[in-house]
Amino acid sequence: MQNEYLRHPLDPWKLCSAESVISIDLPMQNMRRLQEMLVSAEGEAHYELQFSLGEHRLLQVQGKVRGEVTLECQRCLEAVSQTLENEFMWGLVTSEEAAVNLPRTHEPVFIENEKLDLLPALEDELILALPLVAYHPEGGCQLPGQFNEQQPEVQVTTKKENPFSALADLKKSLKSGQ
Ligand SMILES: [Zn+2]
Repeated sequence: MQNEYLRHPLDPWKLCSAESVISIDLPMQNMRRLQEMLVSAEGEAHYELQFSLGEHRLLQVQGKVRGEVTLECQRCLEAVSQTLENEFMWGLVTSEEAAVNLPRTHEPVFIENEKLDLLPALEDELILALPLVAYHPEGGCQLPGQFNEQQPEVQVTTKKENPFSALADLKKSLKSGQ
C-alpha cells in the first residue's frame, strides 16, 4: 500500500500544491545500490516526506529517513547493526541551470517529463547517511579465536608453576635439613 508511491513516477506538482505528507516503508531489498554496501539486506527504512511549494513556486520536499542496516565491523569483520538517520530538503528541478540556482538549503532532485521517480532519490539519502567505517562499540567486538585460546594457557602455566616451585622449595629445605 505504502509502496504505491514507488511503483509509478509521481506528479510532483499535484503533491506539492496539495501539500501532501506521505510516509513510506521501504525494504532494504528494494535498494540495489545500498544493498551492495550492506552485510544483509534485512529490514526496512522509514521515510516521511512533506511536499510543498516554496518561493517562486519551487517544488520542494522536506523529508527524513530512519533505518537500521547491517554493516561489517572494521575491527573484527563481524556484522554490526547501525541506525542510519538523515534529514533532507529537495528542490525538484528539470535542468542543470535550475539546480545551480536552487537555494543553498536545497539539494537538487531531477524530475523528467514532469514526473518524480522517488525510489532512487530515497535510496540516495540513505546512502549519504552511511558512515565511512563501522565499528562495534568499544569492547563490543568478537574476539578472534586465537586470543581466546591463549588466555587460559597463560593462566594454567601460572597455576602450575606455583605448586611446583613450592614443592621444589620444600624439597630443598628438607635436603638442607638432613
Ligand atoms: Zn567489531
